[in-house]
This record gives sequence, structure tokens and C-alpha cells, in this order.
Amino acid sequence: MTTAPNFLFVMSDDHACHAISAYGSVLNRTPHLDRLAAEGMRFDSAFCTNSICAPSRAAILTGTYNHRNGVTTLDTPLDNQLWTFPQALQAAGYQTALFGKWHLGHGPANDPAGFDTWRVLPGQGHYHNPVFLEADGLVIERGGYVTDLLTEDCIDYLEGRDRSQPFALFCHHKAPHRSWEPASRHFNLYDDIEMPYPATFTDDLEGRAEVVQAVKMRMMDLDPIVDLKSSVPPGLTQDEEIRWRYQRYIKDYLRVVAAIDDSTGRLLDFLERDGIADNTVVIYTSDQGFFLGDHGWFDKRLMYEESLAMPLLVRYPKLVAPDSVCDDIVVNVDFAPTILELAGIEPPDDLQGMSVVPLMVGDRPEQWQDSMYYRYWMHNDPSHSCPAHFGIRSRTHKLICYYNEPLSQPGARGPANLVEWELFDLVADEHEVDNLIGTNEGRQLAAELYQELLAHRRRVGDIDETMDLTPPLPD
Ligand code: CA
Repeated sequence: MTTAPNFLFVMSDDHACHAISAYGSVLNRTPHLDRLAAEGMRFDSAFCTNSICAPSRAAILTGTYNHRNGVTTLDTPLDNQLWTFPQALQAAGYQTALFGKWHLGHGPANDPAGFDTWRVLPGQGHYHNPVFLEADGLVIERGGYVTDLLTEDCIDYLEGRDRSQPFALFCHHKAPHRSWEPASRHFNLYDDIEMPYPATFTDDLEGRAEVVQAVKMRMMDLDPIVDLKSSVPPGLTQDEEIRWRYQRYIKDYLRVVAAIDDSTGRLLDFLERDGIADNTVVIYTSDQGFFLGDHGWFDKRLMYEESLAMPLLVRYPKLVAPDSVCDDIVVNVDFAPTILELAGIEPPDDLQGMSVVPLMVGDRPEQWQDSMYYRYWMHNDPSHSCPAHFGIRSRTHKLICYYNEPLSQPGARGPANLVEWELFDLVADEHEVDNLIGTNEGRQLAAELYQELLAHRRRVGDIDETMDLTPPLPD
């Protein structure tokens, strides 16, 4: 057991790839995350199977899709009797600890399980002077900034650990989740610059599904006081106000990211100082991506690239070549079998993901997955009016089915009981602005993608009444 690797699993909340300079961010620099990428592998096609907090976390922990683990929405807690990979590590002799966001329910049936030590934020938690929960309902109030407190918790834990056994430490940041409240040292970061606007910032969404056009994730949907921390200046035109809102939003988002980068540096430095950097697998990821003004949006949920893609950086000098890049498709249900294989633990038969270890060592299996299945269930939630949908993303295309219940929200646009499809060619149209559904080309493409979508649904066992839906196919 003592030769088994340690794990430091750092997961942030809503950190989009395009806010990490190792992924080519044009907005910010993240030197410590970049260091992790330079010393390990960057995954460029890592995707979540449901782009929202609790469901993605459940998929990661259980290695199963949400229809199987039951965490389909933000309101469906995780049954802590379900198998999770931290429990498997613990059972195999690992010391396990979790600090930070849990967001999978609280109480005897939903508290974290599989961790010797845990201290979590209730619900979403707070950025400043947060309250924490421990086992037995113990509540702890603490002064300070959440990202820094979690970093200190992790380092304190590592300093006090039993050195005769390996550890699996989970640092689950709250940041950079809404409402993007920076540490005081970052209050004025970026004050003197105007952040660039994404290529699709003024996307009018023409040609996309009507329910996508109706989604309430535009800059004008941000709450001025909570999200932007300021009243809107008087006298702005609507275009000016949208830009002003974007600048407020994106700068606070990136300030909050800056503290995560600081934290990553402190944790990496600790591993060096402690002499365990070579035998510790360091994983950095986020539960899903985020729209950073792309298509005029903030938030996630939709199956568009900025929301679907997860950052995934893995450093493990014994196996993973430095400065390596993997472009093969990896999904969040693959995390559990991957970590178990690295730990030398046999996974249970009913996991739905595949170990990524062959990709890490440059030994790509011939039959590696070349598409992935996605399903977002939280239809038309009051805050975002995002439609339920499922779809498939291949290496080159994406087919999405929005299967809407009546749009009951006051002011929501779009007809009720509508099924709508989108189809994108990700090579010719990387920004997903040209919906090909119903075109001659789109009908041909949809025929093939639809069969692959059905195959995914059968494989994972997510078969239901929506099976009857078919996209426009060749006549
Ligand atoms: Ca999240």
C-alpha cells in the first residue's frame, strides 16, 4: 500500500477552460495551473455529462450517469449509500479527506461518505467568512476568504497525516461560482483594462432552437446588486449597458479565478517541500465549464462547447509525460475508474466510465470512445429558463434534442410542447452559430448521429419516452 500513489484532487466550481492560460485564455494568466499543465497532461476534450453542479459531481464520484445515480438536478441529493470512488479508496487503506463544496445534500442520508475527515460548505457556501459543516452536524464559523481557508485546511491536513499510508485529498473550491466575490487582494485586479469580448458576444441566436433563444442567461439577466455589486450607471444605451455588465461580470469572475490559481501554487509548493510531488497524482478539474459572454451568455447548462468542456490537468511524473496533450474524448464518468486504476484497485463491474490511464501513458486503445452522451434534466428552472435536452457530441459534430415541457415562466418566449433540434459542424463552425438541422446536409448528418445517439442511450440505459423523438432525416 505504501507504494500506491497519493491523490490530490482539486475541483473548482464553474471554471471554464477558456479562463486558464494553459488552455489559451485571452483574458487572464494562471501561472500555477499552467505549471501543472507543463508538468503533466492537458486534456482538450474532457466533457461533463450534465453541465450543472450536483449532477456532475455525482457522476464523478459514482462513475455513473445521472439517470443511474439519481442526481439529475440541483434538487436531487446523492444517496450516500451509493458506491463512490473515495469510499473504495478508503476501504483499500487510503486516508481520505474532503474540504470545500459538497452540494450533494446534507444529513445522515446525504452527508459525505468515504472520507475520514470532512469539512464542507453548506449548499453553495459563502466567499467571505464562510460557515462550514462537519460530521454530526457541527457548524463552524470562520473568518477569511473561502479559497484561502480551503487551501489552509488542505495543507494542515497533509502536515498532520499518517505518513505510513497514502492519502486521497479532495479540495473542492466554491470558486468561481456565482456570485463571484473576490479576495480583497484581488479587488482591483484588471481595473485599468477593458477585457476583450468573445467572438460570439453579440450572437443574436438566429437559427438556433427557439427555447435556446429564450434562455435567461444574457448579460441583462445578471442581477445588478448581487452579481455586479453595483447599480447600473444611468444614461447608458442598451448596447453600452450590456458591455458594462460584461466588464463587471468577467472581471469579478477572473479575480475569483486568480485566488484559485494562488491556491494551486501553494498546494504544489507544499508537495515539493514535503518531498511527495513524484508520488502524488495531482488532478485539476471543474464540475463543468461556463459561458464567459460567449453567445452573450453567462452560466452553463447548455450543451454548447464552453459549458460542456471541463478543464482537466493531470500531473503524475511516474506515468504522465510533461507538457503532454490529449485530444481524445474523456467524460466525467471516466474519472472514477481512472483513479482506481492508478491506485491499483479493481473497479466494480457496473461503472459506466472507462479508465483514461491508457491515454495518460500514450497507449491509446484503438476502440477509444469517439463520441459522448449528454443529458440536462432541469427543465425551465425559474432562474435560467433553460430547456431540458440530450444529445451527442462526436469529434466533429453535435446533435442536440430539446424536449420541452410547456414554457410556464411568465415572459418566457417560444411555443409550448415543442421538440426542437440543433446540429452543428464543430470543424466548419467552431462557435456553434450555424444550426444545420433541416438542411440537406443536416438531414444526412442527423441520420448517422441519431443512430449513434440511440446507441449511447441504449448502452447507458437511459431509455424513456423521449426515445420516440427523431430529428429531421433524409426524405
Ligand atoms: Ca458548477
